[in-house]
Amino acid sequence: MSPVADAFSAEGPLARALGGFRPREAQSEMALAVEQAIRGGRCLIAEAGTGTGKTFAYLVPALLSGKRVLVSTGTRNLQDQLFHKDLPLLRRALAAPAKIALLKGRSNYVCPYRLENVVDFGFRAGFSEQEVDHLERIRRWSKTTRSGDIAEVHDVPESSPMWRSVTSTAENCLGQDCAAYEDCHVVHARKEAQDAQVTVINHHLLWADWAVKTDGFGELLPEADVIIVDEAHQFADTATQFLGITLSTRQLTELADDTLIELGKDAPDMGGLADAATLLKNDTQVLRNALGEGLRREAWHAVSGSEAVSLGLKRMEESLLSLAAQLKLASVRGKGLESCWKRCDEFIQRLEAFLAEDTEESVRWFETHRRGFSLSRTPLDIAGEFARFRKSRQATWIFTSATLSVSGRFEHFSRQLGIADAECRRWESPFDYRRQSLLYLPAGLPEPGGREYTRAVLRAAYPVLKASRGRAFLLFTSHQALTEAASILEGKTEFPLFVQGTQPKAKLLEAFRASGNGLLLGTASFWEGVDVRGEALSCVVIDKLPFASPGDPVVSARLEAIRKRGHSPFGVFQLPAAVITLKQGAGRLIRDVDDRGVLVLADPRLTAKSYGRVFLDSLPPMRITRDPNAVRAFFAEAKEAAG
Ligand code: SF4
Repeated sequence: MSPVADAFSAEGPLARALGGFRPREAQSEMALAVEQAIRGGRCLIAEAGTGTGKTFAYLVPALLSGKRVLVSTGTRNLQDQLFHKDLPLLRRALAAPAKIALLKGRSNYVCPYRLENVVDFGFRAGFSEQEVDHLERIRRWSKTTRSGDIAEVHDVPESSPMWRSVTSTAENCLGQDCAAYEDCHVVHARKEAQDAQVTVINHHLLWADWAVKTDGFGELLPEADVIIVDEAHQFADTATQFLGITLSTRQLTELADDTLIELGKDAPDMGGLADAATLLKNDTQVLRNALGEGLRREAWHAVSGSEAVSLGLKRMEESLLSLAAQLKLASVRGKGLESCWKRCDEFIQRLEAFLAEDTEESVRWFETHRRGFSLSRTPLDIAGEFARFRKSRQATWIFTSATLSVSGRFEHFSRQLGIADAECRRWESPFDYRRQSLLYLPAGLPEPGGREYTRAVLRAAYPVLKASRGRAFLLFTSHQALTEAASILEGKTEFPLFVQGTQPKAKLLEAFRASGNGLLLGTASFWEGVDVRGEALSCVVIDKLPFASPGDPVVSARLEAIRKRGHSPFGVFQLPAAVITLKQGAGRLIRDVDDRGVLVLADPRLTAKSYGRVFLDSLPPMRITRDPNAVRAFFAEAKEAAG
């Protein structure tokens, strides 16, 4: 028996060390598949339904392989869980001496150099009273922390702008020239990772490793024999966010603020430099205003012909060039000013790259916020990028998630990443979906997109919510629908409402659980990575099939590129991507063997359109009903079973 098979056996080390461990066939099979893939150096794509125990199924072979392994997750929550909980538990159970490390993106660590600068010279950036209070709390904590991980700070909100001032970015980090290099938490975390056998990272870092040009110094990630990508359904999307170029108001304003801070330290006599930094801030606002009112996310050609935009761009380019000239003169005064000069130069190059002609391989687009904007050029072909990435890292790749297949097939996932040589395996969830759940497709709903649609969804869902006594997630595909639903329900329902955006996510979930009969209204961020077990969540309502908006500039350019290659964008991209998202949303309902619940899919296209079958075939094997009485009977039965 191989060590991995032994680990998962009835008398094996996991059974001996972990109370409540019971061998599960799917888990052992997946662990053996991972072990064989590692041994044979073969790429594996493994879908494991909820409850399979896939985390242990890849961590055990990783620990026992003796090889250097990177485990990449989509979220920081899972990163923390793997490093602080699962890996130490398994290491003890297996008596495996493997050294483990956690490596997050640099924005997760306080930067001692920038913190000291802000404390000493931050007054130049004009902080508010609240920001000064946040700064003081961060400063006190920084004296005691060992890891420098800002997740340890609970009394400064994640949204505080102060975090940006006291953490580093690839552009503003001084690297080996930094006076605080010896105390740098990023440097320490990377050193630990260099020495570890298993390092837990995230998808952003993995893609950053490929786009290594974006990093401030040195090799980003340690060499690895094996790379395990969990939450792999997010992997290609992360690439889209990460690859390409972006230039934002935030980057430009930070450059101006850092220049003013460095100037206070090393060149207080250079008034021209202060003027150039202030001018850059003003000119970014001129361009912001030229990009129009409201929040926009559109292709660049929507504004590129505008005279005001051309003028705004020209002014911003000129102020960047003038700042670069001043910084060049000042760069001899100190490493901080030299770094600002390099950063300014890099931004000039990015602006030039953004302004270069359109190509078939990328799309240019912009986004506006209340006071800022970003300009981006994003590559359309992730497959080509990933092929080059794989070639650069000679490692065995293992991809896993609960949602990778569409109607049991993996083409969508492997095509996105251009993987042609993988073994694809699938393990169904061990839950008894026919007994534990019911899929309710309400009849008589209007076409989605009409003005009355959200109201109609709530009307159709209400008998179910009454039968489930609240305890429901209402998941929407747009913020607009979420806001509308919240205003319809406010003051008109007997159930307490928990609406996304009114409190931080973790607090909202805690309050929802504690209420015992709440309705939680959420959009994208509640469709995945949320785990509410037991009776607290007994119903999930989904308003529409989650097709990506074709109005989004990146989605639209990608669809066009597929069309040009002679394929159907709907069949090749829109449909499979929506199926994966729906599987994630539906997956919130049944989290354990004793959970019971009803899934309500309101969208009438599920039965009216032929493609509806693809969605239904990709969901777990639930009983389907269109009869509200069957829903009431289901909950009555569940209540009886619970005693
Ligand atoms: S090396 Fe970079 S991240 Fe580290 S302390 Fe210096 S500036 Fe900050």
